[in-house]
Amino acid sequence: MDYVYGPGKNHLFVPGPVNIPEPVLRAMNRNNEDYRSPAIPAMTKNLLEDVKKIFKTSTGTPFLIPTTGTGAWESALTNTLSPGDRTVSFLIGQFSLLWIDQQQRLNFNVDVVESEWGQGANLDILAEKLAADHSHTIKAICIVHNETATGVTNNLATVRKLLDHYRHPALLLVDGVSSICALDFRMDEWGVDVALTGSQKALSLPTGLGIVCASPKALEASKSAKSVRVFFDWNDYLKFYKLGTFWPYTPSIQLLYGLRAALDLIFEEGLGNVIARHTRMGKATRLAVEAWGLKNCTQKEEWYSDTVTAVLVPPYIDSAEIVKRAWKRYNMSLGLGLNKVAGKVFRIGHLGNLNELQLLGCLAGVEMILKDVGYPVKLGSGVAAACAYLQNNIPMIPSRI
Ligand SMILES: *Cc1c(COP(=O)(O)O)cnc(C)c1O
Repeated sequence: MDYVYGPGKNHLFVPGPVNIPEPVLRAMNRNNEDYRSPAIPAMTKNLLEDVKKIFKTSTGTPFLIPTTGTGAWESALTNTLSPGDRTVSFLIGQFSLLWIDQQQRLNFNVDVVESEWGQGANLDILAEKLAADHSHTIKAICIVHNETATGVTNNLATVRKLLDHYRHPALLLVDGVSSICALDFRMDEWGVDVALTGSQKALSLPTGLGIVCASPKALEASKSAKSVRVFFDWNDYLKFYKLGTFWPYTPSIQLLYGLRAALDLIFEEGLGNVIARHTRMGKATRLAVEAWGLKNCTQKEEWYSDTVTAVLVPPYIDSAEIVKRAWKRYNMSLGLGLNKVAGKVFRIGHLGNLNELQLLGCLAGVEMILKDVGYPVKLGSGVAAACAYLQNNIPMIPSRI
């Protein structure tokens, strides 16, 4: 029988949408309200101040847009660029591929830098392009911080160093959808001009809120950017920011209360602790994969992602079968391999509001499935490796001592 309403919980381990914590669910369980009443603008003002903290920016201007990550991309591009503008964009997996496709369909001149899936953005080629671009034809560098399809994290500090080294004025546009609020992300320090995320990833909210943050340089660029934009026009937001009413169109009241609760949880834990928890989850997962005798799709340690692990399976196994079995037999959701790595990898998402024992449950499930599909795994081997590491590394929660 397929699990639909089986007993217990569905173990949701896709790298987004992720589990929504109880306090957030409760905070969202409420009636609609008039968004022109004094209450919603007051709440929005605080939310805008507080989301800046998760981007680590004091100078950025955030926009809370009723959209998904894909809409947030479009907002970043159309507000800062004009048709025909040259962008340098890195193709390293399905999400960077989709963003490049969007850039092409919006009529930008996309200079694609491709790497094998499992590798990070080729920054040597970026250096060459910047060095050769004396007349500054490159208007923007578009990079996905964490490629969710392959579990690859790019080094944004290096990108900034290269731009500074060549004194290149290109804008730095960053997809932080599966990194912001989970991995170390520093908008101001790394000179990111537009950073964006979606609510259903590390923030652990329902889908539907795109959060876009623009640097002063990006806002300046938006004044002359000629791309057609209507729904995503930052100017409409800025007008209402000035008026103190904040919303050019109707926000989801429930999502705003949810965002409030989600940020409260993150600040209560401490953003640094949230990031450290993701570091532990990533490390524990990789230790399990190693103990199973399997390989990480990510080819080098410097690119290991602490929010998602793509696990390569041997050629005689179809990774889609693993994902299907996870759901049918164990009531667990794992991520499929996408596009070029379809059938070759399955993905374990370990981001958002999640703790270590939940992850161990997932790892135990994966072991049983591996055995089901004929892989000679030693049951308990990955769980043991993860436990041994976690037991020495999970900190005491100060409020519970
Ligand atoms: C999920 C994801 C997206 C797409 O977001 P949607 O909300 O599905 O539009 C974009 N980039 C990355 C890195 C993602 O993980």
